[in-house]
Amino acid sequence: WDTEKLLEQDLAHLLHPVTNLHRHRQSGPIVLVEGKGSRVRDTTGKWYLDGFAGLWNVNVGHGRSELAEVAREQMARLAFQPTFFGLATPPVIELAVKLSELLPHHSHFQFTSGGAESNETAIKIARYYWSLSGRPQKTKILSRRMAYHGIAMGSLAATGVPAYHADFGPLAPGFIYASAPLAYRNNPGLSEAEFVAMLAAELEEIIQREGAETIAAFIGEPVQGAGGVVPPPKGYWQAITPILKKHQILLIADEVITGFGRTGQMFAQQTYGFQADITSFAKGITSGYIPLGGVGVTREIFEVLATPDRMFMHGFTYSGHPVACAVGLANIAILERERLWENAAVRGEQLLRRLQELETHPFVGNVRGKGLMAALEVVEDKASKKTFDPARGIGGKLQAASRKRGLIARCNDTGFAVAPPLIISEAEVDEMVNILAESLDEVLG
Ligand code: PLP
Repeated sequence: WDTEKLLEQDLAHLLHPVTNLHRHRQSGPIVLVEGKGSRVRDTTGKWYLDGFAGLWNVNVGHGRSELAEVAREQMARLAFQPTFFGLATPPVIELAVKLSELLPHHSHFQFTSGGAESNETAIKIARYYWSLSGRPQKTKILSRRMAYHGIAMGSLAATGVPAYHADFGPLAPGFIYASAPLAYRNNPGLSEAEFVAMLAAELEEIIQREGAETIAAFIGEPVQGAGGVVPPPKGYWQAITPILKKHQILLIADEVITGFGRTGQMFAQQTYGFQADITSFAKGITSGYIPLGGVGVTREIFEVLATPDRMFMHGFTYSGHPVACAVGLANIAILERERLWENAAVRGEQLLRRLQELETHPFVGNVRGKGLMAALEVVEDKASKKTFDPARGIGGKLQAASRKRGLIARCNDTGFAVAPPLIISEAEVDEMVNILAESLDEVLG
């Protein structure tokens, strides 16, 4: 590979997403060319531990040639037909069947090409459901601060991280927000049970204030991810779901990160013991080998959608791409054959335990995680929990320090997030945490 040329061409022509473009001009890209297991290699031959599984999604790890073979076969046989106009292909149907077995509270599935499209679909289905049920005024979407649901206009409005909103207004109207269930920042010193009661009371209060008759759905990640990895306090979902039910507000579980094994069960709804009316998913369904996402709905919702004399006027060209669905089926077969959610549970406990050892570091404010998703939050001052001034460029320095040592993690001014492939070994978890610890020492002393 001509590393210099690729770097030059990247800077000349590639508009990188979610990137400080000014800083990128100075640092340039790392160009990755090959992957095997938990590791990826760049053009210079350097190998990195992929501590973020691509973008929380390469669950079965890199280099699974059987997935490439499945894609090749389907592409050669029939590369594309839509699921519009009453058409279908075997992989789309078989994947819907498989998902109905994995998520038995959902009877019907529609596919997309990613997470944001899945959440747009979920939000529109919720509104459509209420409209067809004779309650068209139920349209608001109740989300949470620190939520990340994607960057299309509806999912962006549901996202609760202000940095994603800035300069992209006006936002879609009709979105309201509750607190993130993040004890480190939002628990005013209560017990865990009291904190849950406080969040439940806040939810009740928001619903009373807005009027239940105006709210279509509550959308939430079972474990908030991109906002900062927030596993909910014990009993959170058990406290929230009956309130939503009482007020006839649909629950949308955004399992885009948590689905397909990451939290120690196939879906986080199983990890936390609750069932949503609509589930959105993407990422891990194909382990990122090809874009695919989708939503599942309950039979009750499907029966309303299947009303006579109405077309369901929603769907994408690639709602059920046969090649993506074939890869999805083969990827789920690997997850099941190797029972990778079990490794996520065991290695996740190791990861959390090892990260918690770093809490004695003078600038580590909080460590949190569930399964193979974890975050380490750094603060300038532990007592006040004050974050570092972005001008200090802590995130960039942590990124450089960890990459130098052969680890790709997600670094920003508030610390690290890691979410490695679910195949990660005991030794690799130790290696990852050791590199994080050394990087912290180098940057923050
Ligand atoms: N929902 C969650 C929970 C996510 O983490 C993401 C992406 O990280 C999305 C939705 C958006 O997915 P995509 O980037 O595939 O549109």
